[in-house]
Amino acid sequence: VTRSLTILGATGSIGQSTLDLVKREPGRFAVQSVTANTDVAGLAAAAKAVGARRAVICDASLRGALVKALNGSGIIPEAGPEAVVAAAGEGTDVVVAGIVGCAGLAPVAAAVERGGCVVLANKEPLVSAGELILELAAKSGATLLPADSEHNAIFQVFDFARPERVRRIVLTASGGPCHDLSLTAMRGVTPEQACAHPNWSMGAKISVDSATMMNKGLELIEAARLFPVSPEKIEIIIHRQSVVHSLVDYIDGSMLAQLGPPDMRTPLAYCLAWPDRMATPMPPLDLAAIGKLQFEAIDEKRFPATRVAREALMAGGAAPAVLNAANEVAVAAFLGGRIGFLDIVTTVERTLERYHPNAAPASVADVLSIDAAARAVAAELMLKEAA
Ligand code: NAD
Ligand code: MG
Repeated sequence: VTRSLTILGATGSIGQSTLDLVKREPGRFAVQSVTANTDVAGLAAAAKAVGARRAVICDASLRGALVKALNGSGIIPEAGPEAVVAAAGEGTDVVVAGIVGCAGLAPVAAAVERGGCVVLANKEPLVSAGELILELAAKSGATLLPADSEHNAIFQVFDFARPERVRRIVLTASGGPCHDLSLTAMRGVTPEQACAHPNWSMGAKISVDSATMMNKGLELIEAARLFPVSPEKIEIIIHRQSVVHSLVDYIDGSMLAQLGPPDMRTPLAYCLAWPDRMATPMPPLDLAAIGKLQFEAIDEKRFPATRVAREALMAGGAAPAVLNAANEVAVAAFLGGRIGFLDIVTTVERTLERYHPNAAPASVADVLSIDAAARAVAAELMLKEAA
């Protein structure tokens, strides 16, 4: 049977990988809506390529340009953030959440509230508002399917019927493009260097997060939300090769892992077809050619991000939302050439020291106001530092 599908962030890396899978199996998916932030041409091309019913551009000032780009196609043009949220909450069988950042929170919440399968690539909403998203899912009966490769790996091998039999979850980390640099060399890392990931091709924000390893910090919090284990049971190990995507260690000594090529189409295909499977163009892993699998511990002196994220997770309440917001603005400042590479995590840590909202967020609106306040604190800290 055909599944109806909506793709949020269709012009991005996750969106394009999803579109590639959809195009390979004509008839399997009926695309309702595709959305993008500002890339009108990319959005129109995506909508036409899969025969979407509707295309939504988030930036309302681009409505006219979108109407023009879709002229004669029969695809319905819409514009504005409310239209993105409405498309997310329309009630398709599957919604792929491929927006980057906390900007995806309101659409993700709308999709989860409506029910159905929500494919979560967009990890920041789970970090900032994980408990609320889980509550919404419990109410609506929505199925949350993790597309982040590590969480997808764990999802595939986690015994949800017996979570108490899990001894540890082990998240693997590639180490990113700065893994071999000294602290002194890291000071001078440029946006171009930070975005040149050795194994994965991704959007700019997550590429910088991989370079600082804050990506693994966000993923630690993401794992604590998605899987019923306490945070102390979640460990991180460096695995430069990105072949083993994560592991679950059981009390009898069995460790179950998922292996695969470093291509997001494998976890995305798992989610799109769940509980079935679908083919991807990925050849089987050539284990003999890989030869050895290597693992090593993180050097927290050079990569403090996972420690900072763990502290925010343990502090709970609003701390993960503050961490995420500060990181988003710090990464944007780094990409804009306004702060150095090492200032990213320092800014996050200082923001967490300075700003403690005393109540845990009780709604998505609360999270968004904590997010806005934390951004302002982080921005002020960065200005002071620059002065
Ligand atoms: P990207 O920058 O390539 O794409 C982001 C998409 O979101 C684009 O379509 C853009 O138009 C849209 N967007 C950006 N800001 C928006 C806003 N304010 N409102 C509405 N739409 C907006 O990013 P990506 O690499 O595809 O990552 C998307 C998400 O998936 C991130 O949360 C990332 O952490 C996660 N993720 C990505 C990968 C990967 O391989 N790319 C792997 C795991 C997880
Ligand atoms: Mg990941």
